[in-house]
Amino acid sequence: MSKANADKWFSWAVRAAAGWKCQKCGASFEPPTRVLQCSHLFSRVHNVTRFHPDNAFAHCASCHAWLESRPPEFAAWATDFMGAEKYEALRRYHNRVARFRKSDYATIAAHYKNEYNRITEQEYGFNHPQKLENHPVVTESNDD
Ligand SMILES: [Zn+2]
Repeated sequence: MSKANADKWFSWAVRAAAGWKCQKCGASFEPPTRVLQCSHLFSRVHNVTRFHPDNAFAHCASCHAWLESRPPEFAAWATDFMGAEKYEALRRYHNRVARFRKSDYATIAAHYKNEYNRITEQEYGFNHPQKLENHPVVTESNDD
């Protein structure tokens, strides 16, 4: 499992936790979708907050692009959304240095895959189409 895999499961967990709704404009989406995205308040270059749920939101592509290109507005939106105290704690925290090993990414991926499954089972129940992503692919063979 790689960094990309950790990003993937973090993104699925963040968007599922938001109920597949944009946390800025409220638009609703049906998973799987690329239009609802996982956005980071403090950039993903900062490892320490890259996989922190307080630093990530479900935003539709247009809200994501709008906020990302306007850091002061993003800060104001996030302060309003999470409260000034939490925003300030996150702002102070994001510049800490965190170095991850390969095994750390595997741990993070496994954690958020679990979180995603837990959230999905609560919200949608068993057999929701989202679960298909985890379903083993069965190919029929005529060989035997
Ligand atoms: Zn939106």
